[in-house]
Amino acid sequence: MNVHGCCACQNICPKNAISMVLESDGFKYPHINKEKCINCGLCRKVCPVLNPKKEEECLPDTYACMNKNEKIRMESSSGGVFSLAAENIIDKKGIVFGAAFNQNLEVQHIKVDNKDDLKYLRGSKYIQSDILYTFKEAKQLLENGKIVFFTGTPCQIEGLISFLGKSYDNLYTR
Ligand SMILES: Cc1cc2nc3c(=O)[nH]c(=O)nc-3n(C[C@H](O)[C@H](O)[C@H](O)COP(=O)(O)OP(=O)(O)OC[C@H]3O[C@@H](n4cnc5c(N)ncnc54)[C@H](O)[C@@H]3O)c2cc1C
Ligand code: SF4
Ligand code: SF4
Repeated sequence: MNVHGCCACQNICPKNAISMVLESDGFKYPHINKEKCINCGLCRKVCPVLNPKKEEECLPDTYACMNKNEKIRMESSSGGVFSLAAENIIDKKGIVFGAAFNQNLEVQHIKVDNKDDLKYLRGSKYIQSDILYTFKEAKQLLENGKIVFFTGTPCQIEGLISFLGKSYDNLYTR
C-alpha cells in the first residue's frame, strides 16, 4: 500500500479490513487484516497515489481575502476565512468537517453543526489528523441532501473526492 494517509481505502473497504496504524515516524499508515480481506480491489482503485490525476484536472481558482473580525482572525492560523465559510454553511443548516484535538491531544476529524463548536476546528494543528470514517459520514449526509463543507489538507480532500467517486452540488471543500 502507498503512503499518503488520506484514509480513502479505510473508508471504502466493505469488510472493515483496513486500519490506520501509527508507525515510528509519527504518521499513520494503512494496514490490511488479511483474514478479513476478500481481495475486492476497491482500496487500490480508490487510492489517489496509485491513480494520480492529470495536472490540468488540479488547477484551482485563487482568491485573496481575510476575516474582518479580529478576534476570530487571532484564533486562526491565517486570515480566518475558514471561519467565514464555515459560518455560512452552518447558516444554511449544513455540516462542517475539520480537524480538532481530542481529550488525549490527538488530532481527529470531527463534524460540527453549530457556530460555537467551530472553535475546535480553528487553527492549524501541525500533526496528521485521523480521518477515521468521516468520508463515509460525509457521503451519507450528501446523499441525504445536506450541505457539507469538508476541510483538510489537500491530500485528504483528494482522498475524499476519490472516495465519493462522483461530484455533488452540495459539497464544498477546502
Ligand atoms: C498542517 C498544516 C500545515 C500548514 N502549513 C502551512 C505553511 O507551511 N505555510 C502556509 O502558508 N500555510 C500553511 N498552512 C495553511 C494555513 O496555516 C491555514 O491553515 C490556512 O490558510 C487556513 O487558515 P484560516 O485562518 O482560514 O483557518 P484556520 O482557522 O487557521 O484553520 C482551520 C482549518 O484548518 C484545518 N486543519 C487544522 N489542522 C489540520 C490538520 N492537522 N489536518 C487537516 N486540516 C487541519 C481545520 O479543519 C480547519 O478547516 C498549513 C495548514 C495545515 C493544516
Ligand atoms: S481488497 Fe477489498 S476487502 Fe481487501 S482490504 Fe482492499 S478494500 Fe478491503
Ligand atoms: S487510499 Fe490514501 S491512505 Fe489508503 S493507501 Fe492510498 S494514499 Fe494511503
